[in-house]
Amino acid sequence: MPVAQPSTEIHALCHEHHIQMKLNQIFVGTDGVRTQVLAYACPETDCFVHYSSSHGYFIFSQNESQIETDSLMPRVRCEKDGMPLYLAEVLPERKGFRLWTCPKCSMNHAVNVR
Ligand SMILES: [Zn+2]
Ligand SMILES: [Zn+2]
Repeated sequence: MPVAQPSTEIHALCHEHHIQMKLNQIFVGTDGVRTQVLAYACPETDCFVHYSSSHGYFIFSQNESQIETDSLMPRVRCEKDGMPLYLAEVLPERKGFRLWTCPKCSMNHAVNVR
């Protein structure tokens, strides 16, 4: 059994692969100014999807060291505090079902996409 997780630990899924992402430290920026960001990363090789509660979903590749967002990234925000929600659950038997969760207030937001 794992020991008690820090309360900040969330179970965010990659929005493309629907597998749980792992907390990672990434370094964003140019060589002169590098900012350390804690982000969840998809464990799939060749998948650059990341999530952090401050940036939401974004693309990050080690080579570029830049956070990229594009229109394909999910943009679901909490109605209460405006935080970017993370994908917490999908159901294999209900294809379009997505459960989004707020990292701040834990509000759940279920949607069905076609
Ligand atoms: Zn992925
Ligand atoms: Zn919230």
